[in-house]
Amino acid sequence: MTAPAPAKSRAWAALAELRGPGVPAKALDARALAALAANPGCRRRAILDGAGVDKAALAGALGSPPAFGQSQFAFMRGNAFEARVKADGGAELLRLVRETLDPGAEPPARAEVPDLSATGPQGRVARTALALREAAGTGGWTLLDHPMLALDVAGSPAFLEPDAVVVHPDGGWTVVEIKSFPVLDGSADPAKVGAAARQTAVYVLALEEVAARLAGQGTAPRVHHRVLLVCPKDFSNLPTASAVDVRRQRAVTARQLSRLTRVEEIARTLPEGTCFSPELPAEELTAAVDSVPASYAPECLSTCDLAFHCRARARESGAVAALGRPVRAELGGLSSVEDVLAAARGEAGDPDDPAVAALRRAAALRAEALDAARAARPPVPPAGPEGDPCH
Ligand code: SF4
Repeated sequence: MTAPAPAKSRAWAALAELRGPGVPAKALDARALAALAANPGCRRRAILDGAGVDKAALAGALGSPPAFGQSQFAFMRGNAFEARVKADGGAELLRLVRETLDPGAEPPARAEVPDLSATGPQGRVARTALALREAAGTGGWTLLDHPMLALDVAGSPAFLEPDAVVVHPDGGWTVVEIKSFPVLDGSADPAKVGAAARQTAVYVLALEEVAARLAGQGTAPRVHHRVLLVCPKDFSNLPTASAVDVRRQRAVTARQLSRLTRVEEIARTLPEGTCFSPELPAEELTAAVDSVPASYAPECLSTCDLAFHCRARARESGAVAALGRPVRAELGGLSSVEDVLAAARGEAGDPDDPAVAALRRAAALRAEALDAARAARPPVPPAGPEGDPCH
């Protein structure tokens, strides 16, 4: 008799079955991890990401491919802006870090920019950790350009590459994110800033893992929870920087990641034989995806590959969530459009419920307005004999 497989191996086998035979696990990058924090209540996303399912391929097989992607022009413009910010050994970037986050520190007249090249992601992670440890004792500024960090996600490493990490003279570490969306008159698109903050919070978590390991070796670096966001100013190519506090995003992502490690629990609730392989017929895949509860919101459209599919299903079922979280919150216990209309017509719902009362009041006002419009309309002249051009 063979010995039972360890619990972890069994869990991994179960998750591999969800992907389908021979389908490799898709590694999670910082954007994917950050998107978990954008919709923390979605079990569908949690199980698909936890099992390493390629959601873009799945959405394509369901007939609702995602519409993400950056144009080649935007990509090149972003690269050119980043190169400009990091020019001259990062002189401008370090000036922005000091000015925005650490004005009491000595000016970064001469900074270290260690070579972080190594073979493979694991090699680059080790090289980055070594550079961070060496920088901690120099007492000066160090710029790590595109370091490689690893974050444990459901038992396997996700490799992450922030734009830069700066080591301050006091040994503290700051994550720098360089984006090509503009800051106009001192403010930027809040949705883009929010997405950047969630992405940067993932890097902060990964850096904290490095810091924890170094703390065990006698060095105790501090990872700053205020990160530096660098964007073009107005319509120029000049960089402007702002400090973004990512404590809340960090906490949400950390909680989501700890839940990901329990995706086997969600997997156990699925029907026997559930599989998300893109090779399966669309009807089978639709049934498999629909067997996991989702939590659709319009924000999914900018963060999740499955958004078009989930939106279509939410609309089909008449879920008010498809109208947005604020509308959903206003409607209290009324979760479908059918319930809302019945409540407005006075056919269902508790009249003491504020949402029901507001709907009835709105329906009465609408009926009044329609009656008034009808009454104000001029009478329609009687129709003349058919074919008479004078009538
Ligand atoms: S698009 Fe669907 S799977 Fe993705 S987060 Fe939204 S509801 Fe969840």
